[in-house]
Amino acid sequence: VMSRPPPQHQEWKGAGTTAHFYEIILGRCYTYTQIVRPELGHKDCQKIGKAFTNAFLSKDPCSSTEQDYQPLMELTNQTVPCDKTLLWSKTNELVHEYAWVQQELFTLENTLLGYMADGLRWCGDPGSPEMNYQSCPDRRTDCSNNSVSVFWNAVSKRFAEDACGVVHVLLNGSVHNTFDERSTFARVEVFNLHPEKVHTLQAWVMQDIRNISSDSCSDASIKNLKLILSKRNITFTCENNYRPIRFLQCVKYPEHSSCRSKI
Ligand code: NAD
Repeated sequence: VMSRPPPQHQEWKGAGTTAHFYEIILGRCYTYTQIVRPELGHKDCQKIGKAFTNAFLSKDPCSSTEQDYQPLMELTNQTVPCDKTLLWSKTNELVHEYAWVQQELFTLENTLLGYMADGLRWCGDPGSPEMNYQSCPDRRTDCSNNSVSVFWNAVSKRFAEDACGVVHVLLNGSVHNTFDERSTFARVEVFNLHPEKVHTLQAWVMQDIRNISSDSCSDASIKNLKLILSKRNITFTCENNYRPIRFLQCVKYPEHSSCRSKI
Protein backbone atom coordinates (compact mmCIF):
# COMPACT_ATOMS: atom_id res chain seq x y z
CA VAL A 1 0.00 0.00 0.00
CA MET A 2 1.45 3.35 -1.04
CA SER A 3 1.43 5.92 1.74
CA ARG A 4 1.06 9.58 0.88
CA PRO A 5 3.57 11.95 2.49
CA PRO A 6 1.93 13.93 5.30
CA PRO A 7 0.70 17.40 4.20
CA GLN A 8 3.14 20.15 5.15
CA HIS A 9 0.29 22.56 5.76
CA GLN A 10 -3.30 22.45 6.79
CA GLU A 11 -5.54 21.57 3.84
CA TRP A 12 -8.20 24.04 2.74
CA LYS A 13 -10.90 24.02 0.08
CA GLY A 14 -9.60 27.05 -1.84
CA ALA A 15 -6.65 27.37 -4.22
CA GLY A 16 -3.28 28.06 -2.61
CA THR A 17 -1.05 31.13 -2.63
CA THR A 18 -0.30 32.43 -6.15
CA ALA A 19 3.07 31.04 -7.31
CA HIS A 20 5.87 33.63 -6.93
CA PHE A 21 3.59 35.79 -4.75
CA TYR A 22 6.43 37.72 -3.13
CA GLU A 23 8.21 38.48 -6.41
CA ILE A 24 4.89 39.60 -7.97
CA ILE A 25 3.96 42.04 -5.20
CA LEU A 26 7.50 43.41 -5.08
CA GLY A 27 7.59 43.85 -8.87
CA ARG A 28 4.15 45.47 -8.89
CA CYS A 29 5.22 47.82 -6.10
CA TYR A 30 8.22 49.00 -8.13
CA THR A 31 6.19 49.25 -11.34
CA TYR A 32 3.58 51.36 -9.59
CA THR A 33 5.91 53.66 -7.65
CA GLN A 34 8.52 54.08 -10.40
CA ILE A 35 6.45 54.01 -13.60
CA VAL A 36 2.68 54.35 -13.03
CA ARG A 37 2.87 57.04 -10.32
CA PRO A 38 6.48 58.28 -10.09
CA GLU A 39 5.34 60.86 -7.51
CA LEU A 40 5.27 57.86 -5.11
CA GLY A 41 8.90 57.00 -5.97
CA HIS A 42 9.89 57.60 -2.34
CA LYS A 43 7.88 54.59 -1.10
CA ASP A 44 10.07 51.76 0.22
CA CYS A 45 8.94 48.66 -1.71
CA GLN A 46 11.23 46.32 0.26
CA LYS A 47 9.61 47.46 3.50
CA ILE A 48 6.12 47.29 1.95
CA GLY A 49 6.71 43.75 0.68
CA LYS A 50 7.90 42.62 4.12
CA ALA A 51 4.92 44.28 5.84
CA PHE A 52 2.57 42.49 3.44
CA THR A 53 3.96 39.00 4.13
CA ASN A 54 4.38 39.71 7.88
CA ALA A 55 0.61 40.33 7.98
CA PHE A 56 -0.16 36.66 7.32
CA LEU A 57 2.92 34.40 7.61
CA SER A 58 3.03 31.98 10.57
CA LYS A 59 -0.60 32.84 11.39
CA ASP A 60 -3.89 30.98 11.25
CA PRO A 61 -5.36 32.06 7.86
CA CYS A 62 -8.88 31.82 9.31
CA SER A 63 -8.20 34.26 12.18
CA SER A 64 -6.87 37.14 10.13
CA THR A 65 -7.59 40.64 11.51
CA GLU A 66 -7.50 44.17 10.11
CA GLN A 67 -4.79 44.86 12.75
CA ASP A 68 -2.53 42.37 10.97
CA TYR A 69 -2.60 44.62 7.91
CA GLN A 70 -2.19 47.92 9.80
CA PRO A 71 1.61 48.27 9.28
CA LEU A 72 1.12 47.56 5.54
CA MET A 73 -1.69 50.12 5.34
CA GLU A 74 0.44 52.78 7.03
CA LEU A 75 3.26 52.30 4.53
CA THR A 76 0.93 52.56 1.53
CA ASN A 77 -1.19 55.62 2.31
CA GLN A 78 -2.00 57.62 -0.80
CA THR A 79 -4.20 60.62 -1.62
CA VAL A 80 -6.91 60.33 -4.25
CA PRO A 81 -8.17 63.74 -5.46
CA CYS A 82 -11.77 64.70 -4.63
CA ASP A 83 -14.36 63.65 -7.28
CA LYS A 84 -12.01 60.99 -8.69
CA THR A 85 -12.92 57.88 -6.67
CA LEU A 86 -14.54 55.13 -8.76
CA LEU A 87 -16.16 52.22 -6.92
CA TRP A 88 -17.60 49.17 -8.66
CA SER A 89 -19.44 45.91 -8.12
CA LYS A 90 -19.82 43.04 -10.64
CA THR A 91 -18.15 45.14 -13.35
CA ASN A 92 -14.50 44.15 -12.88
CA GLU A 93 -13.50 44.22 -16.58
CA LEU A 94 -15.49 47.24 -17.73
CA VAL A 95 -14.56 49.49 -14.80
CA HIS A 96 -10.85 48.96 -15.38
CA GLU A 97 -11.21 49.53 -19.12
CA TYR A 98 -12.86 52.85 -18.28
CA ALA A 99 -10.26 53.79 -15.64
CA TRP A 100 -7.54 53.00 -18.19
CA VAL A 101 -9.06 55.52 -20.62
CA GLN A 102 -9.97 58.10 -17.94
CA GLN A 103 -6.54 58.21 -16.33
CA GLU A 104 -7.57 60.75 -13.66
CA LEU A 105 -10.11 58.30 -12.12
CA PHE A 106 -9.00 55.92 -9.38
CA THR A 107 -10.48 52.53 -8.69
CA LEU A 108 -9.00 50.75 -5.66
CA GLU A 109 -6.89 48.74 -8.12
CA ASN A 110 -5.41 52.01 -9.42
CA THR A 111 -3.98 52.74 -5.96
CA LEU A 112 -0.69 51.19 -4.83
CA LEU A 113 -2.07 48.56 -2.47
CA GLY A 114 -4.96 47.51 -4.73
CA TYR A 115 -2.59 47.38 -7.71
CA MET A 116 -0.18 45.12 -5.80
CA ALA A 117 -2.79 42.63 -4.59
CA ASP A 118 -5.32 42.52 -7.46
CA GLY A 119 -6.05 38.98 -8.65
CA LEU A 120 -3.65 37.30 -6.20
CA ARG A 121 -4.24 34.73 -3.47
CA TRP A 122 -2.21 34.26 -0.32
CA CYS A 123 -2.19 32.56 3.06
CA GLY A 124 0.19 31.30 5.70
CA ASP A 125 0.09 28.55 8.27
CA PRO A 126 0.57 28.73 12.06
CA GLY A 127 2.94 25.75 11.93
CA SER A 128 5.28 27.11 9.27
CA PRO A 129 7.11 30.34 8.34
CA GLU A 130 6.32 29.72 4.64
CA MET A 131 3.39 30.60 2.44
CA ASN A 132 0.90 27.82 1.76
CA TYR A 133 1.04 27.23 -2.00
CA GLN A 134 -1.08 24.08 -1.70
CA SER A 135 -4.38 25.49 -0.47
CA CYS A 136 -5.93 28.53 1.24
CA PRO A 137 -9.28 28.95 3.00
CA ASP A 138 -12.27 29.31 0.72
CA ARG A 139 -14.33 32.24 1.96
CA ARG A 140 -17.63 30.41 1.67
CA THR A 141 -16.80 26.88 2.81
CA ASP A 142 -13.82 27.42 5.18
CA CYS A 143 -14.04 30.85 6.85
CA SER A 144 -14.94 34.47 6.14
CA ASN A 145 -12.07 35.91 8.21
CA ASN A 146 -9.45 34.56 5.84
CA SER A 147 -6.24 36.45 5.03
CA VAL A 148 -7.45 37.62 1.59
CA SER A 149 -11.00 38.71 2.54
CA VAL A 150 -9.82 40.57 5.64
CA PHE A 151 -7.27 42.38 3.47
CA TRP A 152 -9.90 43.50 0.90
CA ASN A 153 -12.30 44.53 3.65
CA ALA A 154 -9.59 46.67 5.26
CA VAL A 155 -8.34 48.34 2.07
CA SER A 156 -11.86 48.88 0.69
CA LYS A 157 -12.83 50.49 4.00
CA ARG A 158 -9.88 52.90 3.89
CA PHE A 159 -10.51 53.69 0.21
CA ALA A 160 -14.11 54.70 0.98
CA GLU A 161 -13.18 56.63 4.16
CA ASP A 162 -10.62 58.66 2.20
CA ALA A 163 -13.03 59.62 -0.62
CA CYS A 164 -14.32 63.19 -1.01
CA GLY A 165 -16.61 65.20 -3.29
CA VAL A 166 -18.67 63.19 -5.78
CA VAL A 167 -18.00 59.45 -5.67
CA HIS A 168 -18.86 57.31 -8.70
CA VAL A 169 -19.83 53.67 -8.80
CA LEU A 170 -20.10 51.42 -11.84
CA LEU A 171 -22.78 48.77 -11.34
CA ASN A 172 -23.99 45.88 -13.46
CA GLY A 173 -27.60 46.21 -14.61
CA SER A 174 -27.60 42.71 -16.12
CA VAL A 175 -27.26 40.68 -12.92
CA HIS A 176 -30.00 39.71 -10.49
CA ASN A 177 -28.93 42.04 -7.66
CA THR A 178 -27.44 45.15 -9.22
CA PHE A 179 -26.88 46.45 -5.69
CA ASP A 180 -25.96 43.24 -3.83
CA GLU A 181 -26.10 43.59 -0.04
CA ARG A 182 -23.41 40.90 0.33
CA SER A 183 -20.89 42.66 -1.92
CA THR A 184 -17.90 44.59 -0.60
CA PHE A 185 -19.36 47.71 -2.18
CA ALA A 186 -22.56 47.30 -0.11
CA ARG A 187 -21.13 45.89 3.13
CA VAL A 188 -18.01 48.03 3.40
CA GLU A 189 -17.72 50.92 0.97
CA VAL A 190 -21.21 52.46 1.20
CA PHE A 191 -21.04 52.49 5.01
CA ASN A 192 -17.59 54.03 5.16
CA LEU A 193 -18.19 57.05 2.92
CA HIS A 194 -18.05 60.13 5.16
CA PRO A 195 -21.13 62.32 4.56
CA GLU A 196 -19.18 65.41 5.71
CA LYS A 197 -16.84 64.91 2.75
CA VAL A 198 -18.91 62.97 0.21
CA HIS A 199 -22.04 64.87 -0.82
CA THR A 200 -23.10 62.65 -3.73
CA LEU A 201 -22.82 59.06 -4.92
CA GLN A 202 -23.40 58.87 -8.64
CA ALA A 203 -24.15 55.42 -10.02
CA TRP A 204 -23.58 54.42 -13.62
CA VAL A 205 -25.56 51.26 -14.24
CA MET A 206 -24.39 49.43 -17.34
CA GLN A 207 -26.27 46.62 -19.04
CA ASP A 208 -24.76 43.88 -21.15
CA ILE A 209 -24.92 45.28 -24.67
CA ARG A 210 -26.17 41.91 -25.98
CA ASN A 211 -29.39 42.12 -23.95
CA ILE A 212 -30.37 45.64 -23.08
CA SER A 213 -33.52 45.69 -20.95
CA SER A 214 -35.55 48.42 -19.33
CA ASP A 215 -34.49 51.07 -16.82
CA SER A 216 -32.06 49.51 -14.33
CA CYS A 217 -32.02 52.62 -12.14
CA SER A 218 -35.61 51.84 -11.09
CA ASP A 219 -34.61 48.29 -10.04
CA ALA A 220 -35.61 47.37 -6.45
CA SER A 221 -32.02 46.87 -5.35
CA ILE A 222 -31.11 50.38 -6.57
CA LYS A 223 -34.07 51.80 -4.60
CA ASN A 224 -32.57 50.07 -1.56
CA LEU A 225 -29.20 51.74 -2.21
CA LYS A 226 -30.92 55.10 -2.57
CA LEU A 227 -32.68 54.58 0.78
CA ILE A 228 -29.49 53.58 2.59
CA LEU A 229 -27.73 56.68 1.26
CA SER A 230 -30.58 59.06 2.10
CA LYS A 231 -30.43 57.81 5.71
CA ARG A 232 -26.71 58.59 5.62
CA ASN A 233 -27.31 62.10 4.22
CA ILE A 234 -25.62 61.37 0.91
CA THR A 235 -27.39 62.38 -2.30
CA PHE A 236 -27.84 59.57 -4.82
CA THR A 237 -28.02 59.96 -8.57
CA CYS A 238 -28.30 57.16 -11.10
CA GLU A 239 -27.69 57.00 -14.86
CA ASN A 240 -28.46 54.04 -17.11
CA ASN A 241 -26.00 53.04 -19.80
CA TYR A 242 -23.69 56.05 -19.44
CA ARG A 243 -22.59 56.91 -22.98
CA PRO A 244 -18.80 57.07 -22.55
CA ILE A 245 -18.83 53.55 -21.09
CA ARG A 246 -21.34 52.32 -23.70
CA PHE A 247 -18.73 53.33 -26.30
CA LEU A 248 -16.24 51.00 -24.60
CA GLN A 249 -18.76 48.15 -24.85
CA CYS A 250 -19.17 49.04 -28.53
CA VAL A 251 -15.41 48.64 -29.08
CA LYS A 252 -15.91 44.98 -28.17
CA TYR A 253 -19.21 44.50 -30.10
CA PRO A 254 -19.01 47.09 -32.92
CA GLU A 255 -21.59 45.28 -35.05
CA HIS A 256 -24.26 45.27 -32.36
CA SER A 257 -27.39 47.21 -33.33
CA SER A 258 -27.03 49.72 -30.49
CA CYS A 259 -23.52 50.49 -31.75
CA ARG A 260 -24.24 50.87 -35.45
CA SER A 261 -25.85 54.31 -35.51
CA LYS A 262 -23.56 57.03 -36.82
CA ILE A 263 -22.36 59.16 -33.90
P1 NAD B 1 -17.71 41.85 -6.84
O1 NAD B 1 -18.74 40.95 -6.24
O2 NAD B 1 -17.74 42.07 -8.31
O3 NAD B 1 -16.29 41.32 -6.37
C1 NAD B 1 -15.10 41.79 -6.99
C2 NAD B 1 -13.93 40.86 -6.79
O4 NAD B 1 -13.56 40.87 -5.44
C3 NAD B 1 -14.26 39.42 -7.12
O5 NAD B 1 -13.12 38.84 -7.73
C4 NAD B 1 -14.55 38.81 -5.78
O6 NAD B 1 -14.25 37.43 -5.76
C5 NAD B 1 -13.63 39.60 -4.88
N1 NAD B 1 -14.19 39.74 -3.53
C6 NAD B 1 -15.28 40.44 -3.17
N2 NAD B 1 -15.50 40.34 -1.87
C7 NAD B 1 -14.51 39.54 -1.39
C8 NAD B 1 -14.20 39.02 -0.12
N3 NAD B 1 -14.92 39.32 0.97
N4 NAD B 1 -13.14 38.20 -0.01
C9 NAD B 1 -12.39 37.90 -1.08
N5 NAD B 1 -12.62 38.35 -2.30
C10 NAD B 1 -13.68 39.16 -2.45
O7 NAD B 1 -17.84 43.30 -6.20
P2 NAD B 1 -17.65 43.77 -4.69
O8 NAD B 1 -17.71 42.64 -3.74
O9 NAD B 1 -18.58 44.91 -4.48
O10 NAD B 1 -16.15 44.34 -4.67
C11 NAD B 1 -15.75 45.42 -5.49
C12 NAD B 1 -15.60 46.71 -4.69
O11 NAD B 1 -14.84 46.49 -3.52
C13 NAD B 1 -14.83 47.75 -5.48
O12 NAD B 1 -15.42 49.02 -5.28
C14 NAD B 1 -13.39 47.67 -4.95
O13 NAD B 1 -12.99 48.96 -4.46
C15 NAD B 1 -13.44 46.71 -3.76
N6 NAD B 1 -12.81 45.35 -3.87
C16 NAD B 1 -11.90 44.99 -4.82
C17 NAD B 1 -11.40 43.69 -4.85
C18 NAD B 1 -10.41 43.21 -5.90
O14 NAD B 1 -10.20 42.00 -6.02
N7 NAD B 1 -9.76 44.06 -6.63
C19 NAD B 1 -11.82 42.77 -3.93
C20 NAD B 1 -12.77 43.15 -2.98
C21 NAD B 1 -13.23 44.44 -2.97
